[in-house]
Amino acid sequence: QCAAVCPTAAITVKSDLKDVWKAIYNPKKRVVVQVAPAVRVALGEEFHMKAGENVIGKIVAALRRLGFDAIFDTSVGADLTIMEESKELLKKLEAGENKYPLFTSCCPGWIRYAETKHKELLPYISTCKSPMEMFGAVIKEHFKGLDSTEGVETVSVAIMPCSAKKYEASREEFKRNDIPDVDYVITTIELVKMIKEIGIQFEEIEPEAPDMPFSLYSGAGVIFGVTGGVTEAAVRRVVADKSPKALKDIEFLGLRGMEGVKVCELQVEENSIVRIGVVSGLANAEALIEKIESGEEHFDFVEVMACPGGCIAGAGQPFSHKEEKNARALGMYKADKVSQIKRCEENPLMLSLYNGMLKHRTHELLHVSYRKED
Ligand code: SF4
Repeated sequence: QCAAVCPTAAITVKSDLKDVWKAIYNPKKRVVVQVAPAVRVALGEEFHMKAGENVIGKIVAALRRLGFDAIFDTSVGADLTIMEESKELLKKLEAGENKYPLFTSCCPGWIRYAETKHKELLPYISTCKSPMEMFGAVIKEHFKGLDSTEGVETVSVAIMPCSAKKYEASREEFKRNDIPDVDYVITTIELVKMIKEIGIQFEEIEPEAPDMPFSLYSGAGVIFGVTGGVTEAAVRRVVADKSPKALKDIEFLGLRGMEGVKVCELQVEENSIVRIGVVSGLANAEALIEKIESGEEHFDFVEVMACPGGCIAGAGQPFSHKEEKNARALGMYKADKVSQIKRCEENPLMLSLYNGMLKHRTHELLHVSYRKED
């Protein structure tokens, strides 16, 4: 796969670097940034580090040197996505047999593909915003009060593995009162450019932690960056057994690995089997959709990622061959292994958000509809 080409040809690329620099140097702007999970295992390659090495601490430190005012991790948004998407899945299972599964919604390349080639599937795509957009809405809400007392304006930036995210950020659906929840998206490669531009010695920089109050996230949120990760995070949430053994069993369900199509079955409750499909690459998605539409295959849940391998191999990441992709995937799972919080619902931040800002506003801040008639 070519590093410069988005899997969805309809998505054009625009660089926001100049505007981001301008915002950073403007004292009237509070520039807040979030970093997607997949960025941490690929960016180091541009600084002679091994593929798959988790450099999130160095990224946070570099972003501080660049002048960003608050630095957060999109894995928080991924935790929010699973809190919401797992509710949708359980509702779908309760409703009984349907020809179509619940499709994931976090990849804008896939959404664009469905909108242009498979409009009939739009009602079956999860209404969850992507982690970037959920978190973007939460960030803007969080700083709203502070902005008016301090007389500044919050500018929300996201470091993402692909250019499709730029397109997503610009969509009307993600504007509230005509203001986008994410103002600018810069890719991993563009962040490398910023770091090099001001001469930060990335190899030497000491790792730092993200800022409060959004500094806690689960390992389930981190693995969103690799094919199968969204599903594994959702499975961790929906299974009743929360023991360490159950967590280990989920690891071996068949959701991991770089194959373009993975199928597995999961027992959620007694007598209840959930059939799951995981596809990455739009050609694989198309083949699976054909089987679903013809009735040859039936699934309850299908994860679709437009890039083969998932976001670790996004078009905004450093160029990757098979070895780098495998190493990056491993890097994601290692990051999960060392995280104390393994499931989204165990993240104390979720509890405080759901009891606070999100109490009566989950629909407004966390959901979206791509169906024009809605
Ligand atoms: Fe972007 Fe990830 Fe989708 Fe690729 S798989 S288009 S990197 S969101």
